[in-house]
Amino acid sequence: MHTRLFIPGPVDVREDVLSKMAMPQIGHRTKDASELQRRISENMQRIWNTKEQILLSTSSGSGLMEGAIRSCTAKRAAVFSIGDFGKRWYEMGIYNGVEADLFEVELGEITNPALVDEVLASGKYDLVTITHNETSTGVANPIEDIAKVVRKYPEVIFCVDMVSSAGGHKVNIDELGIDIVITSSQKCLGLPAGLAICTFSEKAIERAKDVKNRGYYFDLLTLYKYIVKKDYQYPSTPSISHMFALDYQLDYILNVEGLENRFKRHEDMAEIVRTWAREKFELFPDENYLSKTVTCIKNNRGINVGELNKELKNRGMMISNGYGDLKEKTFRIAHMADTQIEDINELLNNINHILKI
Ligand SMILES: *Cc1c(COP(=O)(O)O)cnc(C)c1O
Repeated sequence: MHTRLFIPGPVDVREDVLSKMAMPQIGHRTKDASELQRRISENMQRIWNTKEQILLSTSSGSGLMEGAIRSCTAKRAAVFSIGDFGKRWYEMGIYNGVEADLFEVELGEITNPALVDEVLASGKYDLVTITHNETSTGVANPIEDIAKVVRKYPEVIFCVDMVSSAGGHKVNIDELGIDIVITSSQKCLGLPAGLAICTFSEKAIERAKDVKNRGYYFDLLTLYKYIVKKDYQYPSTPSISHMFALDYQLDYILNVEGLENRFKRHEDMAEIVRTWAREKFELFPDENYLSKTVTCIKNNRGINVGELNKELKNRGMMISNGYGDLKEKTFRIAHMADTQIEDINELLNNINHILKI
C-alpha cells in the first residue's frame, strides 16, 4: 500500500512526475541534454527570482552545501546554526580543512541579525552560512533582516540553505543579495531525492578563483566553467531521469499551478496545521518565526509518537518524529510540495481519531 508522506523529505511525488523518471535515457553529451539543462536552469531562476547562474548536481543537497563552504571560503567561514542542519555546514567546513566558527542558539530560536552583524564586524570572515528553514525545529529565520546585515559586508559570500523551503516559501534571491542558495529535489519541489540545485553569483565565482583546494566533484567553479564552455552540460554523468522529472515539474509549478498559487497553498496548509496544533498541543517555535513548510509541535500530551505513526501507517499515512534530541519531545508534520489542503485535513482528522482528541 502507498503510504502518503507528511515528512519533511522525501515527500510524496505525484504519479505523473514519477513516470517522467522512467523515460528512455538520452546521451548526456547531446544537444537535447544541453537544452534540457538550460531550460531547468532558466526556470529555477524564475523560482528564485535571480539572474545568477544555476548549478545542478547529481547528489542530495548536502553535496552542494559542502561544495559551497569549501569552494568559496578563502579566509574563514561564520556558520550560524539554529539546529542540526546548520551544524552540518560547520562539520562540512571542518572536515574539509576550511577554517570555520560555529554560532549556535537554543533549539527553536532564530539567528539574531544583531549577532550576525557583530560577528561579521570583526572582519575575520569572508563567508557566512544561514539556514533559511530549519527542518528540525520548524523555524523560518528572518532572512530579510539577516540579509540586510550581511549586505553591509561586501567581502562576505552569503550562503543560504533553502533545502526545505525553495518552491514553497517565496524568497527573492537577488534582492536579498544571496550569493549561493541551495535546495534538494526531495523537499518542496516534489521530486525523488538525488538532485541538488544552487545559485552561484558573480561574486562567488570570483571568490572561488582565489581558493586553492576546492575538491573535485563539488567544486562549484569547475561545474560553472564546464557549463559555460559546454552549453549547460556537466563534467560527470548527471541523473538524466531526475532532469526529465524536474523539467516537467518546473513547468507544472510555473505554468500550471503558478508560483504565487503554490506559495499561497503552502501558507494555507501551514495555517491549518498551526491552528490544529495550538488547539490540541502547542507549537514548538516562537510564533513569529514559524516555518511555512513544516510544523514542529511540542508533545505536551506525552503521546507515544512512534505508536501514533504505526497507527497512521495502517491508514496509509506517515508523519515525522522530532529530530535528534527533540525525538518524542516534539513531532513534525510537513506540508510541502504537492500535498493539498484535503490531504492535510484528512491527516489531522485521522490523528484526532487515533488519539481520541
Ligand atoms: C533535508 C535538509 C538538508 C539535507 O539535504 P539532503 O538533500 O538530505 O542532503 C539540509 N538542510 C535542510 C534544512 C534540510 O531540510
